[in-house]
Amino acid sequence: MKVFKFGGASVNSADAVRNMAHIVQTHLESEPLVVVVSAMGKTTNLLEKLVPGSPECETQGQALRKQLEDYHLGIANGLIPNDKELVGKIQSLLHELDETIATLQPLSEHYNYNYDQVVSFGELISTTIIAHYLNHHGINTQWADARKLVVTDNHFREGRVDWTETAERWRAMSEQWSTEGGAPQVLLTQGFIAGAKEEDDNLQFSIFNLQFSTTTLGREGSDYSAAILAYCLGAESVTIWKDVPGFLNADPKFFPDTVKINEIPYDEAIELAYYGASVIHPKTVKPLQNMGIPLYIRSFIHPEAKGSVIGNYHIISPETPLYIFRNNQILLSVYPRDYSFIAEDNLQVIFGILSKIGVRVNLMQNSALSFSICVDNNPQLIGRLIEELKSMFRVRYNENLQLVTIRYYTQQVIDRIVAGRPILLEQRSRLTEQIVVPLDK
Ligand code: ASP
Ligand code: MG
Repeated sequence: MKVFKFGGASVNSADAVRNMAHIVQTHLESEPLVVVVSAMGKTTNLLEKLVPGSPECETQGQALRKQLEDYHLGIANGLIPNDKELVGKIQSLLHELDETIATLQPLSEHYNYNYDQVVSFGELISTTIIAHYLNHHGINTQWADARKLVVTDNHFREGRVDWTETAERWRAMSEQWSTEGGAPQVLLTQGFIAGAKEEDDNLQFSIFNLQFSTTTLGREGSDYSAAILAYCLGAESVTIWKDVPGFLNADPKFFPDTVKINEIPYDEAIELAYYGASVIHPKTVKPLQNMGIPLYIRSFIHPEAKGSVIGNYHIISPETPLYIFRNNQILLSVYPRDYSFIAEDNLQVIFGILSKIGVRVNLMQNSALSFSICVDNNPQLIGRLIEELKSMFRVRYNENLQLVTIRYYTQQVIDRIVAGRPILLEQRSRLTEQIVVPLDK
């Protein structure tokens, strides 16, 4: 069995869905093809603004809701003109969305819960349209509800997967096919969304009097969904269809002459995702590595081209430096007020504050008298972080920086990237160079 994943950009218009359906059509086999789909285009961003408790919900709610409807009805009509049944299905999901929004309380302590109940409609609508279209097109497609098939705890916006229960539900579904003799050609399900295990969900049951809570796996989590399903089904491969030709050695937005990497070892892909490479969601590779399932990255624009594969390799091929750019960084340096040294006790306090506020450290370095960290400059979190640190330490900071990670560096490559900018922090290991430099010269 193979798993395909299509992200928002691959289904953002009627033409895009037609192209996606064509790719699916050309890959049908005797076993069902499992297809995981994200919300269409930028729908998740729009839905975030409809979450009760978000600032835009009050002021722009109505206009955004209309935009959501027009967008999806436009795509549906572009795929199959005047299909009343399809329009009805979309309207009924939108109606369910309205009812959901109306029952949620705009309290900040419910925000994460509210978020998952609302944004999940992006994937529900997209898969409903696509399943209908594929069936209309003669491809026997079963729509599967990921909220009932991917089980997580009730950590809203970042559900943690219950692997045993999830695998059990998938096994039960495939058994049903063999006993009832009716496996579909395509099993179409939503990326990103899941459902909380009932016993973990008592709190929500009692607060909201609901039987069921939707969870999500974190933004851009559809890749991870594809990996979860592949793991649970023991799939032969996963293919992520993207708008790039494969795994590139740098983000083409930052780099004029990128090189496509044909083969990437699992560990290398995990390292790159950790350093911030945005090609695949960071949690995706590990479950695939555990089962030895290869992950293909291919272009939905040139579906005939070969793309890249992450698998059981020792080295990347071709061997070339890999670059990861993180912009909008802030470098914070912390000094003890009492002129003591930076030692374990101070570090414990600093990490306690970082973990409490939820700030991820991208790079750190300590000396006898100071401790420096490079982090994403998220204004909400960083303001609080500086404030808390200041109660105990002297804090200095530098904004508008870029963190560049170079794997398989050479001095020549570093010089080219630095391009005469002053280096504010540098860390070098055998394979990896990391530098913090001002974004502009
Ligand atoms: N639709 C979700 C998002 O935009 C999940 C995904 O695209 O992977 O974050
Ligand atoms: Mg998306």
